[in-house]
Amino acid sequence: MSVSIPETMKAAVLRDVATGMQIEEILTPHPKEGEVLVKVSACGMCHSDLHVLGGAIAFPLPCVLGHEVAGEIVEVGPHNEHTGLKVGDRVAGAFLMPCGQCPACAAGRDDLCGPFFDLNRLKGRLYDDTTRLSSKSGEPIWMYSMAGLAEYCVIPSTSVTTLSDDIDPVAGSILGCAAMTAYGAVRRGADLRHGETVAVVAVGGVGSNIIQIAKSFGARQIIAIDISQDKLEDARRLGATDTVNSGEGNVRDRVFELTGGRGVDVAFEVLGRPETWKTALEALADGGRMVPIGLGAGVQTADVEINRTVRRSQSILGSNGARTRQDLPEVVRMAAAGQIDYRSIVSRKFSLDEVPAGYEALRRGEIRGRAVVDMSL
Ligand SMILES: [Zn+2]
Ligand SMILES: [Zn+2]
Repeated sequence: MSVSIPETMKAAVLRDVATGMQIEEILTPHPKEGEVLVKVSACGMCHSDLHVLGGAIAFPLPCVLGHEVAGEIVEVGPHNEHTGLKVGDRVAGAFLMPCGQCPACAAGRDDLCGPFFDLNRLKGRLYDDTTRLSSKSGEPIWMYSMAGLAEYCVIPSTSVTTLSDDIDPVAGSILGCAAMTAYGAVRRGADLRHGETVAVVAVGGVGSNIIQIAKSFGARQIIAIDISQDKLEDARRLGATDTVNSGEGNVRDRVFELTGGRGVDVAFEVLGRPETWKTALEALADGGRMVPIGLGAGVQTADVEINRTVRRSQSILGSNGARTRQDLPEVVRMAAAGQIDYRSIVSRKFSLDEVPAGYEALRRGEIRGRAVVDMSL
């Protein structure tokens, strides 16, 4: 099967954090060994992009962001014999793109892939130490993950999983970050057990998915904590048993009231802020696990009460994404089975041209659940 691929494509290029992203016509990339080219149907707009857009997390410029995509494979690079991937497959791509060859990847710890951090997160490159993107004049453009805020993107084949026909090609884009990160937090970070109690601090795109996945894993009580009443209502619809508005009264007292004076077994922290760390730690029961998954704005620290942590045998278990090759297919299966209602989490759709305005709305806290860029708009 052959598909005609245009020579150039539209992409949201960030050249200067002061100006923000601008839509440009750049060269359409092509896959190298162990990679595929995906015609993007949609790309999710993630809160962590704001740190790069705002300059709090340094990333080489010019670059293209966008790290949760769905689309269709239109070209398969060499050395994909054992992946089974072919042109025409509908896929989701994960933000965490394991190289598949380093010691961490060999141990199944895709979440700790060294080359992913060293080459992609620090330098905006893929595993041959180059980028696939360039401007029409040949200037390199760096890639944050697969650079999904574009009409086409190259993804290592370790980091895609095929989608069944019943997965929505637009809303399905959120599976590779918002849903996968939530799955990793519940399955890997917390190792959540049936009957445990849970708090989720901040219930946006990732938090909404944590609620649903924790419910699937058998959490007995799920307390959603947020300052937005709208988001708390959404949380209840998705399976939260209780809600606490953190703008009203003492959150710790409310959580302890709701848990019979015990606190929760697991508190997920989704925003990466010192104050939300405090909220999550204070919600814990004796022996509880706090699982932080929100990225801070650059180098940030949070206070931890030493004696309480020691005497109450509490743990802090950082969780970055998930184990892409094992966990993304499971996330897709849960979505197809209706255990993750990813469709209703997507509350807004923007066209590629509207990307700058969309991130502005996200920065202002106006997006319930997740917004996505729908390439058909
Ligand atoms: Zn993300
Ligand atoms: Zn690796």
